Amino acid sequence: MKKEKIMHKTGQIGVSAEDIFPLIKKFLYTDQEIFLRELIANAIDATTKLNALATKGEIKEELGDLTIDVILDENEKTITIRDNGIGMTEEEVIKYLNQLAFSSAKDFLEKYSGENLIGHFGLGFYSSFMVSEKVEVKTRSYQENAVPVKWECDGTPEYNLDQIEKETRGTDIVLHVNEDGKDYLKKERIQELLDKYCKFMPVPIRFGTKKTYETEGEGEDAKSTEKEVDNIINNSDPLWKKSPSDIKDEEYKDFYHDLFPGYFNDPVFWIHLKMDYPFNLNGILYFPKLTNNFDAQKSKIHLYSNQVFVTDDVRAIVPEFLMLLHGVIDSQDIPLNVSRSQLQNDHNVRKITSYITKKVAEKLSDLFKKDRAEYEKKWDDISVFVKYGMLTDNSFYEKANNVSLYKNIDGQYFTFEELKEKIKDKQTDKHKKLICIYSTDKKGQHSYIQSAKDNGFEVLLMDNPFIDVHFMQFMEQKETDITFVRVDSDTADNLVQTEDKKESVLSEKQQEKVKTLFTEMLKDEKNNIELKALSPEDMPVIITKPEFMRRFKDMQQFQNIGGGEMPEFYNIVINSNNPLITDKLLNMKSEEKKERFANYLYKLAKLNQNMLTGEELTDFVKTSVEFLK
Ligand code: ADP
Repeated sequence: MKKEKIMHKTGQIGVSAEDIFPLIKKFLYTDQEIFLRELIANAIDATTKLNALATKGEIKEELGDLTIDVILDENEKTITIRDNGIGMTEEEVIKYLNQLAFSSAKDFLEKYSGENLIGHFGLGFYSSFMVSEKVEVKTRSYQENAVPVKWECDGTPEYNLDQIEKETRGTDIVLHVNEDGKDYLKKERIQELLDKYCKFMPVPIRFGTKKTYETEGEGEDAKSTEKEVDNIINNSDPLWKKSPSDIKDEEYKDFYHDLFPGYFNDPVFWIHLKMDYPFNLNGILYFPKLTNNFDAQKSKIHLYSNQVFVTDDVRAIVPEFLMLLHGVIDSQDIPLNVSRSQLQNDHNVRKITSYITKKVAEKLSDLFKKDRAEYEKKWDDISVFVKYGMLTDNSFYEKANNVSLYKNIDGQYFTFEELKEKIKDKQTDKHKKLICIYSTDKKGQHSYIQSAKDNGFEVLLMDNPFIDVHFMQFMEQKETDITFVRVDSDTADNLVQTEDKKESVLSEKQQEKVKTLFTEMLKDEKNNIELKALSPEDMPVIITKPEFMRRFKDMQQFQNIGGGEMPEFYNIVINSNNPLITDKLLNMKSEEKKERFANYLYKLAKLNQNMLTGEELTDFVKTSVEFLK
């Protein structure tokens, strides 16, 4: 039997009649798409409230299926969001949609339009007008004998309210999509938005159906049949909500790949965040396996509020050095409708930041203590995070310094303390400073590395151009009794001197002779020439660079600062103990021969430092061929 219409009302939204809709439509054009998240979040709220009432025993009847439906009708140009939640009575519609929702949307816009917001929570129901020329709300409250009503508004401050037929509990929001929003009438676009914002919402959300294939039988008898099934777009019980002790490693990895389908490598490890006080916060942060082209700019940490996606801009919450991590953070306690700078100054948000830092450091210590070998295997993948973290965050430096590793050229790892212990006998200079020798290029600096090793020195591998130079400088400031010097620097070379205090086998006079020979030959050189009594196995002529100048140049190159070529400074060291000098050179008959030979040795040294190019290199090769003949 058809009920008679017993009520029709029109009215004006809100107290002030000024038009909010142009404002809403203008509001951050790029964020138009959030309307769907807002409406579905309301549907979720309505369903959660219903569940809460049922738990309290205030609802007697069966709740039935609570799945939320998103229905697209391309022909009618409508999008419907349907829930089976608590619904609204007529009074509630007037109160919540006309007065509260309107004024809160208005407040929101007045306060925040133009500001860079972390999320856009709070715009709520009225955001639907960004994409609709008309919005209908058909609703029936859970209360017994509730009268279903339809609220309708076409984007002017006027609305209509009618009693309607509606058998089922809950709310349908019907958007009549306008010209601006016609992009949202495509199935793919809606699916994309649902994936982005609703993937982990706490109530099942259905968007039509999808096809799957089911295989029955095995081998030759296998039959594949096509089946139409509900297209449920969300996982309403995401991993971060579960207790870490109930989760297997495989599940963490699967979840990672589910979140970031573009990353094929398994994460190196992960941290499950669970914080109750003073904030409620859950989440999982993954250390990804870094590839060479990692993109530090783009955040791969997603912020959720009660399983509703808010943003992937988490710079205010996550310490900067951890922005390279991937994962999710879920907290309903982070104030979302404030600007980022306000958020960063928020006392509690700062606590979250330090909580995350602490958790990461603890996890590193745990891994280190539990299984050192396994930790060492992971070190190359995580060293950038750790070093960057130590550089930028003092509290992290203090916690991580003990488990930060130094890798030597042969792939052995030391903690800082172990390293100091290892080198203190042989690598302390006359000022009682520990000299850590490092190489930035295992192949390019091979002969220098070899000679350092022959002298019994430890050579560290510091070959990450992005972080290592800065990191070493940082450690020198923190630990005043150490210096880092590159294996081909003059300081490393001086250390050999202090270490062995070798005597030259040549007499003073002979030494003078060698020196004059080289000085004459290189009279156009501005660089320093000196004689040193090194080991006979060391190269006859060696080029070393002052550590400080070289670092400065590296830095300049790294930061791409112009300002002209900086002149190259280096030392030319002649090894007065190498047989090619002591026996061969000194015993040559003609001056011309001596000079040619000395010149050849000098070029050889340059070659070894990668400094021989162009014409000089061609000449050198030619001369070598001549020699061989
Ligand atoms: P908010 O959700 O932030 O409170 P909204 O403007 O989105 O603000 O919604 C205003 C109010 O309208 C909600 O608080 C709720 O009481 C009511 N409401 C909105 N959508 C629904 C729905 N689908 N079912 C029941 N009530 C709803």
